[in-house]
Amino acid sequence: MARLEWETAKIVRLRRMLMAWYEHSHRDLPWRESRDPYAIWVSEVMLQQTRVAVVEERFKEFLELFPTVDALARAPEQEVLAAWSGLGYYRRPRMLHRAAQFVVANCAGVLPQSSAELRLLPGIGAYTAAAIASIAFGECVAVVDGNVERVLYRVAGWETGVRAGSAALKRKVGELAGELMDAERPGDFNQALMELGATVCLPRNPLCLVCPLSTDCYTRGEHRRPPRPPMLSREIAHALALRTKYERETGRGASKARARAVREVLLEQRPASATVMPTMWELPQLREAAVPDRELCMAVRHAIMQVNYYVRIRTVTEEKVAALTLAGGARRWVPLREAGAMALTGLARKVLTRARLLPTEPADALAAMRTTEQEADADAG
Ligand code: SF4
Repeated sequence: MARLEWETAKIVRLRRMLMAWYEHSHRDLPWRESRDPYAIWVSEVMLQQTRVAVVEERFKEFLELFPTVDALARAPEQEVLAAWSGLGYYRRPRMLHRAAQFVVANCAGVLPQSSAELRLLPGIGAYTAAAIASIAFGECVAVVDGNVERVLYRVAGWETGVRAGSAALKRKVGELAGELMDAERPGDFNQALMELGATVCLPRNPLCLVCPLSTDCYTRGEHRRPPRPPMLSREIAHALALRTKYERETGRGASKARARAVREVLLEQRPASATVMPTMWELPQLREAAVPDRELCMAVRHAIMQVNYYVRIRTVTEEKVAALTLAGGARRWVPLREAGAMALTGLARKVLTRARLLPTEPADALAAMRTTEQEADADAG
């Protein structure tokens, strides 16, 4: 297995080149303006499995709703899930919420400062703990995400082959990241390496000609990677059941009561025991995956983990709902003006958005539409 000679001079040079590049090339991202450990924690959780562009749009919004650990801890879980809606991977906000409650109950609302202590919080693993501890508290601990792994595989010339991601290889990458670490500025160093992977050492077509590490990089290009596991596919169908109710309203100064039309959609809550997206709201599932052409309202592809769901949406009248749909969790007719604020599954939000049924702000709608199949809803694990 080929690799660099990691003599001190080379390590020092790599570190210096990387940090100099980061100084003038890093992106201005909202979470980088803050040294608040809570804000950094939120950003790190959001950035797992979600593209930076989407997090940029949602980060400030989330902090406006829940500006402190205490505010997050006190909020009902459904509100936190609703604020996360469209970002996918809903285990993340649940664990964030639970950890905030833990911090308030056991740490007087103050986030622990070391990566070892942070790892004791619900849902905080090695990566998130190292990121918070190094960026917010200056602990000299390496952060190793997929970007960092890729950069270091290539710089060191490690052929990952079919054994990529093995515990031994990950340990080697962690050790190498630790060797390279800038002890004076550990937070910036970690962000620099991740930034290089995200913007220069790209998975395909790395930009080696502008890379600050190219002189010492063993591969100067793509390294051998294992093939991706093939995606499975499944066909399912959901019901889009809408109705109009008339509410009595009394106009200001009017002598007679008037009727106001309220459009409602039927939503179903996933059971709390569900392994995927528990307690979130979705469109009722149809008994039959096949939908007659004349009844087809929309076809959507939606990926969850390694499964591509080919989803057919059928419009169903209130009278036919019971006969056509599977009995699932609790159901509610929800006014459309309220549905957008609920903890909807990524698929339900995608369908209602595409059908232009959610009264969202343009930015919200954009974020929901940008929720790619890869980002949506994978909640297992
Ligand atoms: S030279 Fe190319 S392959 Fe090597 S680290 Fe830089 S971008 Fe990645």
